[in-house]
Amino acid sequence: MYKINENYQKLPGSYLFSTIAKKVAAFTEANPDREIIRLGIGDVTQPLAPAIIEAMHKAVDEMGNAATFRGYAPDLGYDFLRNAIAEHDYKARGCDISADEIFVSDGAKSDSANIQEIFGAENRIAVCDPVYPVYVDSNVMAGRTGMYDREKEIWSNVIYMPCIMENGFVPEFPEETPDMIYLCLPNNPTGTTITRAQLQEWVDYANKAGAVIIYDGAYEAYISEEDVAHSIFECRGARTCAIELKSFSKNAGFTGVRLGYTVVPKELKCGNVSLHQMWARRHGTKFNGAPYIIQRAGEAVYSPEGKAQLKEQVAYYMKNAAAIKNGLQKAGYSVFGGVNAPYIWLKTPGNMTSWEFFDVLLEQAGVVGTPGSGFGPSGEGYFRLTAFGSYENTLAALERIQKQAF
Ligand code: PLP
Repeated sequence: MYKINENYQKLPGSYLFSTIAKKVAAFTEANPDREIIRLGIGDVTQPLAPAIIEAMHKAVDEMGNAATFRGYAPDLGYDFLRNAIAEHDYKARGCDISADEIFVSDGAKSDSANIQEIFGAENRIAVCDPVYPVYVDSNVMAGRTGMYDREKEIWSNVIYMPCIMENGFVPEFPEETPDMIYLCLPNNPTGTTITRAQLQEWVDYANKAGAVIIYDGAYEAYISEEDVAHSIFECRGARTCAIELKSFSKNAGFTGVRLGYTVVPKELKCGNVSLHQMWARRHGTKFNGAPYIIQRAGEAVYSPEGKAQLKEQVAYYMKNAAAIKNGLQKAGYSVFGGVNAPYIWLKTPGNMTSWEFFDVLLEQAGVVGTPGSGFGPSGEGYFRLTAFGSYENTLAALERIQKQAF
């Protein structure tokens, strides 16, 4: 008789977005005339930039011609894309990363879930709390997290690093030494980040502790402050302790197109075993390459036209972020994030729980956001709004929120 992977049975189930969807559906049914504004899910709304569409059309035409048709892509990515990434995302920033240290994939969600496979089951992970749920859930599936405490909503073998108002949402070095440290900066869901100097301290800590940092830079394009690193490889010593995950979803609107990459430096070694070689082996075995058309679209992200158009797109979302942040501050809310990330993290008014605030916001203002507690116990009492809506909807939502006295 076959056995299942029992670790899946331990998963508490991710009710967050399905609960939100159910509540919104019930509200719409009861109030068919009320128009709802959604600032909940972290999905983009602006269309793909013209330079990207042009590159995709050209690649589609190539696929229809025997002379230029492409079959399986190289497992690790086409050289044209890996070279463009190395040049623009690393070399231009003074980071020592070569094209063959870049592994092209179908996005940062899969990479952030899959990367744990090359580490032993006995490793202890440390995560920020609140956190992008994929890091923890993928480790649960691998049997690395111990047992779930339903009351406290924590795993017995996970080290949590609370990121709350009191510590400026900056993770502190944990008391127990972790083996794998997940850092997402700028952060989803808090929209906050840390300085380059603070990141350097994490790199020094990891090198000293013999830990690896899995660094998720999905929101890097939204960084506006000078002293914030665009890559962990801006820090000295990161080549011996860090893996970086990047996505084309938020900087270029590829959420439905699917493209990302992971950087594993050749100097990252456990004893004399190269993690670069392990990830190359894993990727080559389990992934058959991102589609040619999509990789050409990714290449266009780095063309002069693509860069200029995407700068405008990011600015559009960040104008929304500034409007939400300023508007809520004027209305008396304590508001965080929104400067280096498209997320606004607010303290719920009047000591409401995250879900209580969700309900009143929906019922009274017809605005949908995301309850902070859905991202971890330290998210309780907070609420996330995204800047990914249209400017008009963002202003309309703000006006409605400002009219309410919660
Ligand atoms: N990492 C973080 C922190 C995210 O918030 C998201 C998506 O919301 C992802 C990764 C997923 O990125 P991708 O669309 O490339 O899979």
